[in-house]
Amino acid sequence: MAASYLKLYHNKELHKRIQKARSLLENCSVCPRRCYVNRLRGEMGKCRIADEAMISSYGPHFGEEAPLIGRHGSGTIFFTNCNLQCLFCQNYNISQLGEGERVTKERLAYMMFSLQSQECHNINLVSPTHVVPQILEALEIAIELGLQIPLVYNSGGYDSVETLKLLDGVVDIYMPDMKYSDENIAKELSGIENYPEINRAAVREMHRQVGDLQLDKEGIAHQGLLIRHLVLPNNLAGTKDVINFLAREISRYTYVNIMDQYHPCYEAFQIPNLARRISTREFQEAIELAHEAGLNRLDKALHLILRL
Ligand code: SF4
Repeated sequence: MAASYLKLYHNKELHKRIQKARSLLENCSVCPRRCYVNRLRGEMGKCRIADEAMISSYGPHFGEEAPLIGRHGSGTIFFTNCNLQCLFCQNYNISQLGEGERVTKERLAYMMFSLQSQECHNINLVSPTHVVPQILEALEIAIELGLQIPLVYNSGGYDSVETLKLLDGVVDIYMPDMKYSDENIAKELSGIENYPEINRAAVREMHRQVGDLQLDKEGIAHQGLLIRHLVLPNNLAGTKDVINFLAREISRYTYVNIMDQYHPCYEAFQIPNLARRISTREFQEAIELAHEAGLNRLDKALHLILRL
């Protein structure tokens, strides 16, 4: 199934979106941090990326959700740095310590096309929020090379609605995190303001654009919303409120991956409430809450059955 962005490319709308996105870099408001630095002149805000994106690695990935990996894998591109500063980030060497190298838009386009050539089912943009303009520029070149598989926007969920509107008709699959329900916890653990409010507005906009996750006859996702929620110890993630928001304000058919793999790393050992893995009971409670709320498209449902 051809990606939506081909239509925008052919009617020249994609080119207009690139120009609008580039203009955001001059006084940067690409993400809700609104640092107002001039990235086109080499200035850097909280994400510490100026005019060119940085990449730590790219390749077929088989550790993602089943609807993304299919037989040939999800074509992941890991962008260096992040607009969040999570104390427990499990990829902190990439997101916080700057591991990676600068890439031109031509090189990024080549990476996208190379992943399609390896038969990946999609281009999975990991931590794309701070480099949306650079992604759009590369996409136009990649389309000219022959790119036609869907884009997956795999973000921490701290995205501005204005920037997401530039991706309307460009991104086919949104996969944001819903990390927290409490703004004070978000501030303490990820260094960001108003996470729940901004995150929920972003999820509403994503769902407005693409709807619930749709799979083809082989079970591969081609469009829609997929939510990730990492259960944290001591209910720091506010799981119940996240689940109720999805069930009541988005859709009971939302595809949700409730994740149990939290383990303390990076600076998490300095926070007593974060310094342990979650218990089996904590994970089971999260799954039960989802079922009680009517959310039954759970990526880990089978996993739970195997654990019980
Ligand atoms: S993208 Fe980076 S520089 Fe721009 S507002 Fe966000 S954190 Fe700041």
